[in-house]
Amino acid sequence: MDFSLSVEEREIRDWVRTFVQRELMPREQEVLRRERAGQPGITSDELAELQLKAKESGFWGVQTPEEYGGMGLSAVMTALLEAELGRTFVPFRFGGSADNILFYANEEQKREYLIPTIEGKRRSCFAITEPGAGSDAKAIRTTARKDGSDWVINGEKTFITGGNEADFCMVFAITDPEKGANGGVTCFLVDRDMGWRSEYIDTMGEWGPAALVFDNVRVPERQILGELGQGFALAMQWIGRGRYLLPAHAIGSCERLLSMAIEHANTRETFGAPIAERQAIQWMIADSGVEIEALRWLVLHAAWQVDQGMDSRHAQSIAKLYGGQKANEIVDRVLQIHGGMGYTRELPIERWYRELRLLRIYEGTDEIQRRTIARNLLKGHVKVGGTLG
Ligand SMILES: Cc1cc2nc3c(=O)[nH]c(=O)nc-3n(C[C@H](O)[C@H](O)[C@H](O)COP(=O)(O)OP(=O)(O)OC[C@H]3O[C@@H](n4cnc5c(N)ncnc54)[C@H](O)[C@@H]3O)c2cc1C
Repeated sequence: MDFSLSVEEREIRDWVRTFVQRELMPREQEVLRRERAGQPGITSDELAELQLKAKESGFWGVQTPEEYGGMGLSAVMTALLEAELGRTFVPFRFGGSADNILFYANEEQKREYLIPTIEGKRRSCFAITEPGAGSDAKAIRTTARKDGSDWVINGEKTFITGGNEADFCMVFAITDPEKGANGGVTCFLVDRDMGWRSEYIDTMGEWGPAALVFDNVRVPERQILGELGQGFALAMQWIGRGRYLLPAHAIGSCERLLSMAIEHANTRETFGAPIAERQAIQWMIADSGVEIEALRWLVLHAAWQVDQGMDSRHAQSIAKLYGGQKANEIVDRVLQIHGGMGYTRELPIERWYRELRLLRIYEGTDEIQRRTIARNLLKGHVKVGGTLG
């Protein structure tokens, strides 16, 4: 068993680490200032400029296949890279990517949606959640009714990331009520100017998702992505595309937070000694260090299973659940170690506190991950202790 990184993996990781330190971290104070004034942390022009800078060094389309101009990196490499990006809260992502399910588009749709999305000219959003259907995605009510050669979509979606900015959405609607999720849900590519509206939802995070309204939105048959009735499988594929990437990002955030806590503990004195000398503080630091290491290996193991073409769903659920839980405990401890300063807006800890809270909710809540894990174990789909085969 070899836990070391290859030369290439180390080089790519180090390049991203340097990029984060040189290009992103210096922007942190300005990001905080703007966010606190109710503005986006970085503008879309600044993001595009940063993405271009990364592209000049070949960092473009991290997981996009090489035939589409991307890097086609492995899941393990992408997890390592995501952890590096997590070291800062500057909202940066590499350019050149598109939702995995857009690659199922036909040639015409690829020209109209996939390629412009990879090129950064169009923006997508993924819309399945509804006011009455979140964890239980099969309960969606949005319908698409056939009318001549068109489909007419009616319904409401909620909590849609990027829904305010997107110029098209991948929306899931019932096309056969009798079959429902078992062959009766279809995914449609719907341009904003075909008639859907969006409304910003204010959250405790620094960016808001959107509610989308479809009121008799008429789309031609050619807007169906994939096959009629096979939308639910596509939706599950989108959600499962990289559950390991969310906790991967949290690894970097937790490492940065723990470093802040260590520095503060070593310099802050109470009762004549640095608080680092108190066992109460040491245990918080020790537990956080152990949990970050455990999380790293859970994430890398899940990513490795993806690269091997194995069924990685169980490992991904474990990594997502553990990451969400532990990242929240760690940021809470780090805030505690900073005392009153941790609670202020002078430091970014409270920002991370709010951001990391989301990890326990979206793309499958803690409870839903537990449900999956328990079901696999109880039904014998996964053997206890069977990780190594
Ligand atoms: C910021 C943000 C961004 C999002 N982005 C998107 C997006 O881009 N596209 C999209 O389609 N959706 C998106 N979502 C929706 C997200 O996936 C759902 O919020 C999530 O799946 C939970 O659904 P819900 O909010 O309806 O909660 P519910 O499903 O109503 O759950 C409420 C509570 O009950 C628990 N629960 C539910 N079922 C069970 C069960 N069987 N056993 C035990 N406990 C259970 C849940 O874990 C939760 O604690 C986003 C959400 C947020 C907050």
